[in-house]
Amino acid sequence: MIKFLDLEKVTAKYADEINEATSRVVNSGWYLQGKENEKFEKDFSEYIGTKYCVGCANGLDALIWIFRAYVEMGVMKPGDEVIVPANTYIASILAISENGLIPVLVEPDINTYQIDPEKIEEAITPKTKAILIVHLYGQCAYTEKIGELCKKYNLKLIEDNAQAHGCRFNGQRTGSIGDAAGHSFYPGKNLGALGDAGAVTTNDEELAKVIRAVANYGSTKKYVFKYIGRNSRLDEIQAAVLDVKLRYLDEDNQRRKEVAKKYISGITNPEIILPKVEDYDAHAFHIFSVRTKKRDELHDYLEKNGVQTIIHYPIPPHKQDCYKEWNDRNYPLTEQIAAEELSLPMSPVMTDEEVNEVIRILNEWQA
Ligand SMILES: *Cc1c(COP(=O)(O)O)cnc(C)c1O
Repeated sequence: MIKFLDLEKVTAKYADEINEATSRVVNSGWYLQGKENEKFEKDFSEYIGTKYCVGCANGLDALIWIFRAYVEMGVMKPGDEVIVPANTYIASILAISENGLIPVLVEPDINTYQIDPEKIEEAITPKTKAILIVHLYGQCAYTEKIGELCKKYNLKLIEDNAQAHGCRFNGQRTGSIGDAAGHSFYPGKNLGALGDAGAVTTNDEELAKVIRAVANYGSTKKYVFKYIGRNSRLDEIQAAVLDVKLRYLDEDNQRRKEVAKKYISGITNPEIILPKVEDYDAHAFHIFSVRTKKRDELHDYLEKNGVQTIIHYPIPPHKQDCYKEWNDRNYPLTEQIAAEELSLPMSPVMTDEEVNEVIRILNEWQA
């Protein structure tokens, strides 16, 4: 079986250094808010290209804390609107709702799967305070048009960079383009921990301070509580593991790129729509997405032939029970992607033989 993602193999690649790092923490007797967090936050902010990085418990929290901090700072208030892609993982939208803000869904461009910059302006109202772009599948969602709209309407630009560690826009890394970015280090992400972990990157000193406080009980100083916060800290073991894996992120992403190039040049089956990639640096290939009208058949065919695939995502956020108020709305492109998308095996540990095998099996598929 060619796995969608062989996490055991990913971890094994760095086992010696990971074991060294974790036992260093185990033996140190210090497990939270210590040197490992400090080091990883410094290294990750340098990697992304921002002044500040604040570690937290997971990627959803990272996004929640960005909006929460803007609310605490008086930049946003409950009832304000935030533009977000309709075609995204639910976490992007949950982070907005969680803060009493109103998510305003915008359809994707069917060629890139990213929020359609041409459809953003018509969604802007006097209540709009921010645009949350999601670099979905690892591909840069930012365009100059989006930057111009943020300037014109005085909107905050927030990035959901959960899937795009290492992706660049004109040389600049995603996660450093907007006012703030949320990162997830869920184990399967390009930079993955051995459990839950997340971070915010930003150049805004005050925002970073408020986030550090709200994610730590709302505390600005030990036993002094300025905000009604929560406990959402990044633990020392995960920080140490992430710091090891960060060193190899570019190398890992390079391998993802090679796999993607092989897929794109090798898959010739006319029933399968390949991703359109104009700039290979503007894609971190977290997910290699293809589309086909007979998606479920293709999934079953691949399964039978020993290739594991996953759908990202089978039910769009506006059709979920948790957002009942949107259930009778139609976002046709988002729904089309949900019906046609299939994610092929993609990881830095895939061998050429595995990639060639997936290509051969796909090309033999008769829809
Ligand atoms: C994974 C992911 C998140 C959430 O990250 P967690 O660490 O699982 O909380 C948010 N947004 C997107 C687009 C994701 O893929």
